Formats: sequence, C-alpha cells, structure tokens
Amino acid sequence: MRKNIVAGNWKMNKTFQEAEELISELVTGLEKSRHTCEVVVCPPALYIEMASDYGHEEGVIKIGAQNVSEYEKGAYTGEISAAMLKSMDVDYCIVGHSERRKYFGETNKQLALKIERLLENAIHPIYCCGELLEEREAGKYFEVVEKQIEEALFHFSKEEFGNIVIAYEPVWAIGTGKTATAEQAQEMHAFIRRIIRNKYDEETAENTTILYGGSCNAKNAEELFANPDVDGGLIGGASLIAEDFIKIVNSF
Ligand code: PEP
Repeated sequence: MRKNIVAGNWKMNKTFQEAEELISELVTGLEKSRHTCEVVVCPPALYIEMASDYGHEEGVIKIGAQNVSEYEKGAYTGEISAAMLKSMDVDYCIVGHSERRKYFGETNKQLALKIERLLENAIHPIYCCGELLEEREAGKYFEVVEKQIEEALFHFSKEEFGNIVIAYEPVWAIGTGKTATAEQAQEMHAFIRRIIRNKYDEETAENTTILYGGSCNAKNAEELFANPDVDGGLIGGASLIAEDFIKIVNSF
C-alpha cells in the first residue's frame, strides 16, 4: 500500500557513541512530533541492533539496512544475509544505491537477486535508480531509469512488486547540494508510475511508494514532497543531523 516514507541513509558515518546519540535525539524528537509518515533509519550494519532497540522500544522508527547479500547463507565472508537482517528486526533495506553501483560494481542482475532474498524474508527493498549527469544532459534519463527498473524489478509478480519501494535518486544530485527541481522530480516520478501501470496495472502503480533522493534537506523537502507522485525521501547528509531530519519528516 502506498504510504509516505522518510528514510535516512547514514552511509559509513558515525562511531557507535555518535550513532547512539543521534538515534536517541531522533527518538526523543519524533515522539513529540506530529508526523504522518513512516520514518526509517538505515544505520551502518554494526549499529542495527542498537538502533532497533531504541526505535522499537518507542515504536517511532523502523530500521533499514544499507545492503544485503545476494546469497542465502554460507561461505561468503563479510556478507550479511537477508535472514540475518530479519532476525534483527530490519523492515527495509536499500538496494542499488548509486554508490554501490559505482564503487562495488553492482549490476541490475545482481540487485534483482538481492531483492529476491529480501522479499523471501519479508523485508521491503528500497530500490534506488537514477541517471548520471551526462545521461541527463544527453536527454537519456527516462531510458536509463526504465532500464534499471525493468531489469531489476519487472520479473516480480504483482504481489511481490507490491512490497517494493522505489527511490529515484539522480546521481548528479547525491551529496552535491544540487537538488532536482520539484518539476524534475515530479516528471520522473510520474514516468516511473506510468511504466509500472503499463507493466502491471493501475492499482499497483497507485500503491507504489516512490521516494526522491538527492540533496533533499530541511529547506527543500516541503516543496519536493508537495508533488502528487513524490511520496517522501531517501535522505543522506541531512539524516545525520537530528534537527534537520525531524524537520524533513514533518514536511508533509
Ligand atoms: C543518498 O545517498 O541516498 C542521498 C540522497 O544523499 P544526499 O541526501 O546526501 O544527497
């Protein structure tokens, strides 16, 4: 079912003590806030247990992971499985972030396997897609995003697809301070909804949550979230400051 979500991607930031301080500030702030959206925090994997303890205790935060193995279990040193995440009360997992595509060579095919593992374990994938600056400038952005979605998602059944959240994150806007305009975000979100409608049906398209990510902050969130096809945000930098993140959560 389509719902508004604000998810914070902490990436590889914060020591344990700093992470604990941030999560505790978030929980205190969110308890007092009148937000209407679901709030998801994706800390580094090492801190999932701590964040989950804080978040679940108060019931104000859902926990997300930043990555998952494409394999089920076994001799894959350093990897974390979807079943392990589930056993730590993880509800969401980011898949296909542009940093993982760029630095770790993740492909749409591999991402499809990761999503399969997550769905088997009742974890909602947050599937990231988005074009590079040169692809936007060459006018190929619809084509690029369509291919990312088609190759990683469109083999899933309508029921399976219903558990997937999509995050449109133009790569040129991530960590650059350069946000897509509200019009650019709405245009792409409407396009994504259209291709989902064409592949599945109207109901599936209407029920899909599509987040925007890329330099979304306390100042521009309201304008971005006001668009009919923007159902919230995947927030990087601004999720590391409790006050800013809470402002974004309250931007609906
Ligand atoms: C992200 O990495 O998903 C992201 C949106 O980062 P930032 O908000 O810092 O641009």
